[in-house]
Amino acid sequence: MDKTGASASERSHFIRQIIEEDIASGKYGGKVITRFPPEPNGYLHIGHAKSICLNFGLAFQYHGRCHLRFDDTNPMKENLEYVESIKEDVRWLGFDWKGHEYFASDYFDQLYEYAIELIKSGNAYVDSLSPEQIRHYRGTLSEPGKPSPYRDRSVEENLELFGKMRKGEFAEGECVLRAKIDMSSPNIVMRDPTLYRIRYRHHHRSGGKWCIYPMYDFAHCLSDSIEGITHSLCSLEFENNRELYDWILDKLNVYHPKQIEFARLNLSHTVLSKRKLIRLVEGGYVDGWDDPRMPTISGFKRRGYTPASIRDFCERIGVARRDSMVDLALLEHCVREDLNKHAMRVMVVLRPLRVVIDNYPENDTELLTAINNPEDREMGTRQVPFSRVIYIERDDFMEDPPKKFFRLAPGREVRLRYAYFIRCTDVIRDESGQISELRCTYDPATRGGDSPDGRKVKATLHWVSAAHAVRATVRLYDHLFIVENPAEEEDFTACINPGSLETLEGCMLEPGLENTPPGLRYQFERLGYFYADHKDSAPGRPVFNRIVTLRDTWARIQKQQQKK
Ligand code: ATP
Ligand code: MG
Repeated sequence: MDKTGASASERSHFIRQIIEEDIASGKYGGKVITRFPPEPNGYLHIGHAKSICLNFGLAFQYHGRCHLRFDDTNPMKENLEYVESIKEDVRWLGFDWKGHEYFASDYFDQLYEYAIELIKSGNAYVDSLSPEQIRHYRGTLSEPGKPSPYRDRSVEENLELFGKMRKGEFAEGECVLRAKIDMSSPNIVMRDPTLYRIRYRHHHRSGGKWCIYPMYDFAHCLSDSIEGITHSLCSLEFENNRELYDWILDKLNVYHPKQIEFARLNLSHTVLSKRKLIRLVEGGYVDGWDDPRMPTISGFKRRGYTPASIRDFCERIGVARRDSMVDLALLEHCVREDLNKHAMRVMVVLRPLRVVIDNYPENDTELLTAINNPEDREMGTRQVPFSRVIYIERDDFMEDPPKKFFRLAPGREVRLRYAYFIRCTDVIRDESGQISELRCTYDPATRGGDSPDGRKVKATLHWVSAAHAVRATVRLYDHLFIVENPAEEEDFTACINPGSLETLEGCMLEPGLENTPPGLRYQFERLGYFYADHKDSAPGRPVFNRIVTLRDTWARIQKQQQKK
């Protein structure tokens, strides 16, 4: 990963180099055809986003195309809900497969023919060992495997048995079709891998037509070949499978794409395996796949992340062949940078403390001018009402402040943003002893927030006029896990952050926000970036999710690294 974190849209990496060499040498006719091949057995996560940005990005950069191919060869865990969610997420990220939507299951007939061809050329056989025996015969890293007693069945017998497998004349596990390669290969993948197995399962597309299903390694390379893929990019764990990928295509003498492996994305404070994500959903640890704490694309969308910020993140992390852990702070930095440029600033008080300004006229209201985005003056200004009673943030006041606390305290003067200087004169408590109200005075000469006599204050607070405030629910999200690498823990669910969600009711918004259309993003001044939840928010009843705070921990991490 690039430690500078600089904008990296033009950075090269080893896959771009390979592709550029292939274009230069005229390999594949100078074409670039990639594919993103999800298995529809869960929702996409940020790791998939890396693969999507890479595959679609390369196709775009080199004027080729990228296919969306559902790798749906396992009828056990796949369903249509996942297919639909995957399409939605890829589109949301900003990519278009331009009609090149394919399903590995649509190739089942052709794959079956290829299997027959392998049998006929003596490169595949039906094995009648049990699954446990097959595992046992396969050997280990230090021990070679040994051949199955059924390995030397004749072509005729194999054809007949494979035909019977297809017709449903065997039970699940009674036999499989295996490639006949090398039981003593140092690469265990090459020790006569299974190509087809029997499963009496309904498939979400082919229905009940098949009771034998191809294994991933068989279906994947051939799907790539059938579609004319040029560069087949996959994550590093398939490195050992490349030998099999090449073997199958060579034995069948068909069009042969190039498999290239890259390191998966690992993200701190996150789990990125569908199996674990399913556990979070099914165990009720989160509120569904699109819970804003989930590292799924739909979760990030619901949290309020922008597609541009996720694409920027995927570009910055780069592509390498070495596994590494990326700090979640970098992703947060990317969304902050994007929103800083575009999000309108507003004032919202999350935990209100009532402040009465004693010397302000009782029934007066005045309008003060606030800047919508200091980073983009073209976004203009707005008028914010001010009156005698306002709310400020509870933690912006301390009765007995420690040395480094510069905000409001008894006797002290602070600035109200875009408004006036106020000084605290009195603290009012309720029967339980809780502070219920502050009494203050204001200086009319400081209108707009400047003092004519050059008097300095050490803090500027945001505020909302009580008479005009709009109530809202605001949800504060934090990391879902308290440890950096939860996947490493014995039970990752044991290190879920108990404070990952805090729901605040009765937050006070400046007027105008009551009818926020769901899906809008704001910066709440001094607090962070917030998103009007597209599921739960409605005009008149706003619900905001905190996307990210304003604290840029990534900048701090970078500084530390530069010092080293
Ligand atoms: P998981 O381990 O989360 O179940 P998977 O690899 O089984 O993921 P697939 O649906 O098969 O999920 O993945 C589709 C594509 O996305 C594959 O090409 C895979 O290599 C890629 N991919 C999955 N996870 C990551 C990741 N963390 N980083 C980069 N690419 C990934
Ligand atoms: Mg997979």
